[in-house]
Amino acid sequence: MTHPAIRVSEIFGPTIQGEGVLIGLPTVFVRTGGCDYRCSWCDSLHAVDNQYRHEWEMMSIDAVWQSVVGLSGGRPVMVSLSGGNPAIQPLGALIERGHREGYRFALETQGSVVRDWFAELDVLVLSPKPPSSEMTTDWAAFEACVQAANEKPQVVLKLVVFDESDYAYAKDAAARFPRLPIYLQPGNHTPPRPGNGDSAVDLDGITKRMEWLVESVTRDRWFEARVLPQLHVMLWGNKRGV
Ligand code: SF4
Repeated sequence: MTHPAIRVSEIFGPTIQGEGVLIGLPTVFVRTGGCDYRCSWCDSLHAVDNQYRHEWEMMSIDAVWQSVVGLSGGRPVMVSLSGGNPAIQPLGALIERGHREGYRFALETQGSVVRDWFAELDVLVLSPKPPSSEMTTDWAAFEACVQAANEKPQVVLKLVVFDESDYAYAKDAAARFPRLPIYLQPGNHTPPRPGNGDSAVDLDGITKRMEWLVESVTRDRWFEARVLPQLHVMLWGNKRGV
């Protein structure tokens, strides 16, 4: 059976997952190309902006899988499907293929596009975008993503927070989905410029935002929230492919 090709921006690893529920876990990343959003502070524009389309490649399931297996040395590892918005791509057959060989799959999406194969994932990270992104959340589509998972994978919320209005949005998201664990992370206000992956990152500014976030959740007795930094940004700044 032939499966539709996947539009890939980059495949890299193994490295560690830098954020959220799987932070620190060795991971191979499959970053797909294309996104239905255009967040003001997107840190993956090279996988979003059509200007970089020439860097993307239509790859067969076999080609993607060979790349993942090669990077992992054939040892099952967590595979993170990211983007862009990976939900746009036909990833169900890839997940099925990897599962047969003992690999696990996490996918991170903003929750704007629902897929029935979400139920086949091991971890679904839903990351609704707060007001500072200048995007508008379709909560009905988001709810449909949670439903599609059908309580099979671990489903978590991950929120990037830049300011008070983002924080209020995060609280609202948590109230809408009280059964889902929630991870907060301070936003990177100096995201990489595509083509200049080593651009400087303001770690002091991010650390101050992290401190403010910790103070906010403790002040509000919001004891269900977990506050985490982006570990890869702390270690490697805006460098790509790590
Ligand atoms: S949803 Fe993610 S990949 Fe898409 S524009 Fe926003 S931050 Fe970038």
